Amino acid sequence: MRAKHCDRREFLRAIGTGALAGGALAGAGLAPAPVSALGALRAPLRADRKTRHVVFIAFAGGVRSRETFGMPASVPNMKAMADEGVLYPRARTSNLGHFGAAMSLFTGISEARGIRENARGTDPTIFEYLRKDLALPQSEVWVTTTGGAQQVNYSYGLHPDYGPQYGANTLDGDGIFNKKFRAVFERYGMPKAMEPGEAAALETLRGSLRARGSEEEGAALERVERYILDELTSGTSSLSGVNAGDAKALRLARNLLSIFRPRVIGVVLQNADVAHGSYAGYLEVIRRNDAAIGELWTAVKEDEELAGSTAFFVLPEFGRDRDLNPRRGLDHGDGSDELNYVSCLAWGPDFKRGAVVRDDVRTIDVTPTICDLFGAEARLARGKKLPGLFA
Ligand SMILES: [Zn+2]
Repeated sequence: MRAKHCDRREFLRAIGTGALAGGALAGAGLAPAPVSALGALRAPLRADRKTRHVVFIAFAGGVRSRETFGMPASVPNMKAMADEGVLYPRARTSNLGHFGAAMSLFTGISEARGIRENARGTDPTIFEYLRKDLALPQSEVWVTTTGGAQQVNYSYGLHPDYGPQYGANTLDGDGIFNKKFRAVFERYGMPKAMEPGEAAALETLRGSLRARGSEEEGAALERVERYILDELTSGTSSLSGVNAGDAKALRLARNLLSIFRPRVIGVVLQNADVAHGSYAGYLEVIRRNDAAIGELWTAVKEDEELAGSTAFFVLPEFGRDRDLNPRRGLDHGDGSDELNYVSCLAWGPDFKRGAVVRDDVRTIDVTPTICDLFGAEARLARGKKLPGLFA
């Protein structure tokens, strides 16, 4: 999409008539988000912790430690985070296939109970624990994914004590870039810096939207506008290459964090699974995803509020086989330690710096750890709090 002149009045009219609001916004889960505390500095959820925001990246798709921390030149950003954080090189995985294993990261339960491909799980997710225990509105808890129908299932499960009313806002890599939305911008072009007359038109629009809703909703809509403008102008929709889906999910997370400053963003990647057919492609996905994680990390460190209050957790759902397959790719099914153990990275204001914890831990330990960090409890999770984490 090329940047061209935008008739902002027409653009605003398109928003006003619902061409945007009814399509992309609602589809992206942005429109109905209740926004109670936007703009306000978040208090710590636990008085004894500095962490106010968590970014939980499932570096999924099957990624061995051999190509990450075993090959630090490929992952300079994650290496730098590990140098300032805590690395768990022996995190045992749940070998349930991509979907089940990534799901288990978010439920803290490795049993594949009721988890079929492309179906909601029966266990609560980290997003539900946090929202219910801490009374967080949906606008505080997000998950962005690479895409694919089944990944929407990470946002909540079907447990009767939790479920959709405690689910995360979902944005998949294509969500906000759907055809309807793109069509509007292709027609009207990219918004330019605002001119005085246009600002007045925008204010009129806001006023009419406010009249329909509360002051808070009006403020939320302003955020949505900013989000959309930032989103598009930052070039996310033009991201391409072997990790395009992952790159979009990470860029969305970065923009969401910068603008909405939610408590929690889950990010689910999957492009590394290109490894089945291409080892070179897999290496490239890892390298590019590390760079995108670096962008996200930099955005946090350069943000006055987020720096010093944001924690990261990064880990794959499982590794890959020890040996190449006949196509010179890497599958996942040999039962080797390379498959069953991954590296889990934690970085944040409450954590040790430059520590390596060589104990065996489990990938399902992250959810109970994050819940505890915020003062919530992952009641049904089978994982434990990660040892040796806190400074
Ligand atoms: Zn696979």
